[in-house]
Amino acid sequence: MSYPDTVNLPFNRTSLLGAFQPLPPDTPDSGEPGFFLLIQGDELILSNENDIPTLPWGTLPTWVERSSTVTIGLWQGKPLRAGRIPRSMTLPAPFSAESLNAYSQRLNDQLLTLGGIARNLLSWDGESAHCPRCGGVMARHPGSWGKRCISCSMERFPPTYPCAIVLVRRGAEFLLGRKSIWPEGRYSLIAGFLDSGESLEECAAREVREETGIEITNLRYVGSQSWPFPSQLMAGFVADYAGGEVTVGDDELEDARWFTAEAPPTLPSKRSIARWIIDRYALGMEHE
Ligand SMILES: [Zn+2]
Repeated sequence: MSYPDTVNLPFNRTSLLGAFQPLPPDTPDSGEPGFFLLIQGDELILSNENDIPTLPWGTLPTWVERSSTVTIGLWQGKPLRAGRIPRSMTLPAPFSAESLNAYSQRLNDQLLTLGGIARNLLSWDGESAHCPRCGGVMARHPGSWGKRCISCSMERFPPTYPCAIVLVRRGAEFLLGRKSIWPEGRYSLIAGFLDSGESLEECAAREVREETGIEITNLRYVGSQSWPFPSQLMAGFVADYAGGEVTVGDDELEDARWFTAEAPPTLPSKRSIARWIIDRYALGMEHE
């Protein structure tokens, strides 16, 4: 195994197998036929000819406004244009909107990854129209997704929010928690967002302490996954138990407990870094 090898998880660009070439949004539109990444709400619109979900291809569908799309790169050598569709629009056949999440049965890793990129960039574009300091108009920074205020020159770039996600081991046992909103019986790793003035290592230790009452030691970074819901980066760690009794300490978890490889609970999607870490470092199996 090369280290780290999380690069092939969906949402990480390597899963696109070199077929995606990003371009800055001020690239002139060539007008050539291409692929479309159309986002409606939080969903990706697919064409379902012969019941096979694919990206809409060709010229701009008549029900999409030209001004709403932007070229974000090349996909398989063809223009890849992204745009938002109003939530209220009823899609004509053979198009459907598919939920962009790691449990999707209809989206393969590449569609999931491309959809995540489009959703991130379009969210940024929509939310950065005005300067947060003076309210002025934000204009594109040439050659990038960044923007500059035309009034006060403040610059902003698409944000990424880092999270630490950590597996805690105690001999043959491992610590998992669950949120009340998850399907019954599903448990996953302890995770949380970085606080101001905090390293990822400090974040991992704090989250485990706050959510479960457990102290950790021997923390090791094992890999990361882009997680576009909306703009997170999951930094994965494995740690050893150092002390404490499990007590669910804040409102985030409804339960946390030790499990063994012989009797694991329902686990998260195999497309998530949570499951990738559990499979490798708790269950001792290679990822499929
Ligand atoms: Zn400004």
